[in-house]
Order: sequence, then structure tokens, then C-alpha cells
Amino acid sequence: MDPDIFVFDPEAALAPYASRSGISRGRIHPEPPPRYRTEVQRDRDRIVHSGAFRRLEYKTQVFVNHVGDMYRTRLTHTLEVAQIARGIARALRLNEDLAEAIALAHDLGHTPFGHAGQEALDASMRPHGGFEHNRQSLRVVDALEARYAEFDGLNLCFETREGILKHCARAHARALGAVAARFLDGGQPSLEAQLTNLADEIAYNNHDVDDGLRSGLITIDQLRGLDLFAAPYQEVALRYGTLPERRHVAETVRRMIDAEVGDLIATSRDHIARAAPCHPDEARAARTPLIAFSAAMAAKNLALKRFLYRALYRHPQVKAMNEEAQKLIAALFAHFMAHPDDLPAATAQKARNLLDLEGIDGQARTVADHIAGMTDRYAIAQGERLGLSGIPVVGRGPAQVR
Ligand code: MG
Repeated sequence: MDPDIFVFDPEAALAPYASRSGISRGRIHPEPPPRYRTEVQRDRDRIVHSGAFRRLEYKTQVFVNHVGDMYRTRLTHTLEVAQIARGIARALRLNEDLAEAIALAHDLGHTPFGHAGQEALDASMRPHGGFEHNRQSLRVVDALEARYAEFDGLNLCFETREGILKHCARAHARALGAVAARFLDGGQPSLEAQLTNLADEIAYNNHDVDDGLRSGLITIDQLRGLDLFAAPYQEVALRYGTLPERRHVAETVRRMIDAEVGDLIATSRDHIARAAPCHPDEARAARTPLIAFSAAMAAKNLALKRFLYRALYRHPQVKAMNEEAQKLIAALFAHFMAHPDDLPAATAQKARNLLDLEGIDGQARTVADHIAGMTDRYAIAQGERLGLSGIPVVGRGPAQVR
């Protein structure tokens, strides 16, 4: 930062174990320091300006994008994660801007149609090295965004990239270098990355309860069997008596988020106090993550996750929609492998070049990058254009949108 322009250092009050620009492991392509932002603030801004970020608006979280305007999309999910992550980071004197940058980028590599799309693309890509959305998010910011004259990707700081790569199969870790070293050698990512990972869980568990109830696919009676929901639901009933159902649910969900965030901050603060790390690398070297729920909250959270998996994500109506989506992704992949000339001209050229250089795996990776970058509606339009099967029909999803 240029001290003449920016006299207030937003990182001055951070804890010794927080990530800071001054001790960053830097960018792949060295660049002059930003003049009026910190390094990670620059990362965050680059992410918000990326094309992949804009496309999150039209990608499925759980409910396919076109079934109702009130459901979370990947963009609103991402904003909820960022907001929760920032709150936790601030409370722990960690780098709020880094947590925000990681959160805003964490789902950039997601395919259309949520996890159904990811599974289908992974299945199609199995003979060619597989497909993982975390690895793809890193690939988007490292290679696929084409916005800068001097380099591919966004050239983000190590700390942001480390946080984006939440999971990585050992088989792929070696090729990714330092950013994936922990998947081979053990150790943790930064505390900011750890908390953003759990903020993601808090966000989706709670908004899936909200969206699930809105859709009518899960019911309050089912949720009353879960501690995490039952306690605040009861508390709201005792305090306010009879409320309209949507308002009762909203009061309950916000208390659930508050309980989880409060538990996470208190538990993590204890872990940090005991480990007393003096540098982010000391937190990275810890045997287990220092950011964590208490055992009791972790158990409640797991029970909720299991319930949502069984009752919502595997609900026959969601499953039927997912199967249509998977057929479409598989059909698009097969079509573009057989007819690469049907890809947009620049992508077709890239597929041909990589076919020459790397063989069929190179072409397959180009096709996978293209499909992963699609929004739900673009994938559907491509399916229609090419006369493929497996197109989710509008109105076929949960109908009871309230
Ligand atoms: Mg997420």
C-alpha cells in the first residue's frame, strides 16, 4: 500500500496468528503492491470482477435455478458464506478480507445443477483424470479466467488459493505444488481458510432448512426431531406465541445460525488460546484444525446434515430433477467429445491444440472446463440446440413455492 494514499492499515489490529499481506507467500507472477488496498483486498476485488463470479447467479444450489425466485442460487449462497465468514474472522481477530475473498471464490468451479452436475461431470471425466469442483475453483482463478494481459487466471495470493482448495485427492495434489502440499504432508490451511470452510457448512445447512421448508419437500414435524432446530423453534413459540409460519421459521433459522456461529467462535477461541500460535504457520502446523465446533455442536450439526441428505437431497422430486440434469451433462460431454467443432470457436481451437499436445485427455479437460463454466440455463439451451436428452422441464421441480 502507498502510505500517501492509504494511511490506515486495516491489518494493524489483527492477531499474531492472522494472515497478513506483509507475510504473504505471494503471487505466482510477481506484481507491484496495490496502492490503496491490501493484497487480499485486491484478490477479493479480482474475484468479484471475474466472469465466473457473475455466472454464479444462474447456477443451482439445491433447487434448479428456474423453479422459483425465492430459492438460494450459488451466488446468494456465496454471499451468505462471505457474510458469516467475515463475522467469525472479525470476532477472532483474523483477516476478514481474506475470509471474504476465499468465501467469494469457494464455489467458482461448481458445475451447473449443483452436486448432481458435479457427479455427472466427474463420471464422464473418470477416464481422463476426474472432475472435482474444489480443484476446478482453483483452476478458474489460476488458469481459466482470461482478463489480464500478462497472465492467465487472476494471479491470486497463495493464502487465497490455499483456502479455495478445500479438498484435493492425493493423486492430484503433487501436480498442484505448494498450494496442495498439506494433502500429501499433513497440516492445516490458514485459520481464515478453516473458518470459511465451516461458514460454508453453517450457511448451507441453515438455508437448506429454509428452502426445504419453503418447497414443501421437508416439514416442520420432521425437523422437530433435530436438537439444532427443535430448541430454537420451541424458544420462539414460548416467547412469541403463534406467529405466521414463515416468520416462525425465519426466527428459528436465524437463531440456529447464531447458535452455531457463537459455538464456533467460543470453541475456536479456546483452541487458539491453548495452542497460542504466534504466526499463521504455527496454526498450519497444528495436528488438528484450531477452528472447530464443540463436540456437542458438531454432533447436532452432523445430525442435521444427515437429515438433509436423506430427506431433501435424496427426495424423489429432487432426485428426479437431478437425474434429468445428470443426463444432460453426460450428453453434453459425449456430444462435445464426438463433435468438438460444436464448441464455441475459441474453445474448439483450444480443444484441437490440446488434443495434439496431450491427446484425448487434453480435449476432455477443455470440454469439462467448458461444461463446468455453464450456467443452468445455458446448459439447457445448449442441450436444446444440439437436440440432446435430459433437459429439466420448467415447473417440474418443487411446485409449492411460497
Ligand atoms: Mg459452498
